[in-house]
Amino acid sequence: MNRYVIANWKMNVPPEGIGGYMDVLENAPAGDAQVVVAPPFLYIPELVKKARRIAVGAQNCGDRKSGAFTGEVSAAMLRDAGAWFAIVGHSERRGVYGEGDELVGRRMALAVENGLTAVLCIGEDLSVRDAGLPRVTEHLSSQVRAVAQAADARPGGVVIAYEPVWAIGTGRNASGAMVAETVAQIRSAVTQFWPASRATTPILYGGSVTPDNVGDLVANGNIDGFLVGGASLDSRKFLAIYDGLVGRK
Ligand code: PEP
Repeated sequence: MNRYVIANWKMNVPPEGIGGYMDVLENAPAGDAQVVVAPPFLYIPELVKKARRIAVGAQNCGDRKSGAFTGEVSAAMLRDAGAWFAIVGHSERRGVYGEGDELVGRRMALAVENGLTAVLCIGEDLSVRDAGLPRVTEHLSSQVRAVAQAADARPGGVVIAYEPVWAIGTGRNASGAMVAETVAQIRSAVTQFWPASRATTPILYGGSVTPDNVGDLVANGNIDGFLVGGASLDSRKFLAIYDGLVGRK
C-alpha cells in the first residue's frame, strides 16, 4: 500500500478512550490505504495489543542509538514496542522545541535504519507563503535537501508530509489546487536531492483536514493521503477522512 492516513494524537488521548477508538477503526471496512495511529509514546504498547490492521506510529524518535540522552526514545525501542512508523520534523518539534533539519535528518536516518517508516514533515510558515510560490519552493527544497544530506540521502522507508505551518491546528487549510501546485515542487526537489526515491516516496498533506474539506484535497491535491491532528481525536471524523481518500461514502 502506498497511501496512508495517519492520526497524530499529539499530547492527547481521544475522549472516547483508546479501546473505543480502536474498535471503531478496526471494525470499519478495509480500503486500499494504510491507517496509522501515532499516540504519545506511553500508549504505543496498548495500541499495538489492540491493532490488527492498523499500524502504530510514534510522534518522534531518538537521533542516537542509545546512551545519555534524557527524554529520548530510540528507533530500536520503538520497533521493539511494535511501532512501524515514526513522525520526524513535525512543525511543533521544529517550532516549539527548536529542532532543525540536521537533527531531523539524524532522527529520520535512524528510524529508517531500524525498520521504521519515517514520516518526514516539511512546510512553510505564513510569511513564506505570503511571499509567493517561488519562495515556498525555495523553502521546501531547502528542507528536503538538508534532511537528505543529514540522512546520507537514504530514501527507503520515507513518507513526506507536506504540512504548511499556517494550516496546522488553525482551522485554515490549503485548497486542493494550492496543495497540488506545492506537491509538484516537492516532487521535483525529491527528484533532485533524493533521486533514488523519486517514484516511490508518497506525499501526504496535513493541516486542518476535516471530513468537510477532504473531498477537494483528494480530488485536486495530487496527494497520497493525510496526516491528521485535531480531527484524528474523534474516530468517526478520522474514519470519514479515510473514507474520503479511498472513495467510500
Ligand atoms: C498535525 O499536527 O500534523 C496536523 C496536521 O494537525 P491539524 O490536523 O490539527 O491541523
